[in-house]
Amino acid sequence: MVRIECYSAPTSLREALQLLAKYGDRARVLAGGTDLVLRLEGVDRDLEGALVNIKQVPGLVGVRAVDDVYRIGALTTVTELREDPVVAEHMPVLADICDHFASGQIRNAATIGGNLVNASPAADLAVPLLLLDARVRLASLEGDQPRERELSLGDFFRGPGVTALEAGELLTAVVVPRPPPGFRARMRKAGTRPAMDISIVSVGVGFCVDGGLIRDARVALGATAPTPLRCPAAEKTLEGRPPDAATARAAAQSAVEAARPIDDVRASAWYRRHLVRVHLEREVLHVGRG
Ligand SMILES: Cc1cc2nc3c(=O)[nH]c(=O)nc-3n(C[C@H](O)[C@H](O)[C@H](O)COP(=O)(O)OP(=O)(O)OC[C@H]3O[C@@H](n4cnc5c(N)ncnc54)[C@H](O)[C@@H]3O)c2cc1C
Repeated sequence: MVRIECYSAPTSLREALQLLAKYGDRARVLAGGTDLVLRLEGVDRDLEGALVNIKQVPGLVGVRAVDDVYRIGALTTVTELREDPVVAEHMPVLADICDHFASGQIRNAATIGGNLVNASPAADLAVPLLLLDARVRLASLEGDQPRERELSLGDFFRGPGVTALEAGELLTAVVVPRPPPGFRARMRKAGTRPAMDISIVSVGVGFCVDGGLIRDARVALGATAPTPLRCPAAEKTLEGRPPDAATARAAAQSAVEAARPIDDVRASAWYRRHLVRVHLEREVLHVGRG
């Protein structure tokens, strides 16, 4: 039986932040509920604080181009990301993964903010957003006024289910800088089915090809360590080399060495390393072919 002291659906950011400030670590933000509701039936069963439904807070939905960044509201659902023309044109690697995310029903409810704050090492939106150098905006109250700080997504993830979000803070948006001209990226989610499955491993790579050589290389891995992560060693291996088979092999080797996978019910650590190698090698060649 879940015992919740206060349920509230605030209609302004300030009101939401006031509730979060009042209840501190006894508050839970409710977005799509696809992760939280399961927690309330499990680890958070004895929550005696507040459930703050943020669905009516204005300004948290949708994708907008603002100056040299794209701003994605925290409540934007996976379905909305999948159908958004700005995402399709400028962040296709993010649109593509939405096709492999859960089922239609879950995609209609699941939000980008919830996916990141839930901080599963296998969170599907994390890898494309790491490739896109995304940052998160975190709001809290200063006195009686909302203020925001910004953090790179890499710094936001701290461990399985743990983020840099502090008590009283709300993730309001994900900010993606415009990728460099000619930047191409791909992600591969390895699971037992094409969708409706948690990743065994996910691998993403992106770069530009300039004069036949790779530049702005980015590599990201999911489900291979306590958090989704960028892989600077593999990026260094790619930088300045042609996108050929030898480069792909070398980058895959660097990524395998950086991965720290575990054995669990879905796969052994050995198999996860194998998948990182195979998929990264393939994806480097795919991106190189354009
Ligand atoms: C059947 C099923 C299939 C799934 N398949 C996948 C899959 O394929 N890939 C995948 O990555 N995930 C999958 N998930 C997990 C889940 O759907 C996603 O992680 C989803 O994006 C969570 O978003 P939400 O809006 O439902 O979050 P919620 O459940 O509402 O919240 C999740 C957590 O984030 C906090 N939170 C939410 N929004 C904010 C915010 N703006 N600021 C601060 N804290 C916030 C909540 O308090 C909670 O702790 C699946 C879940 C189910 C039930």
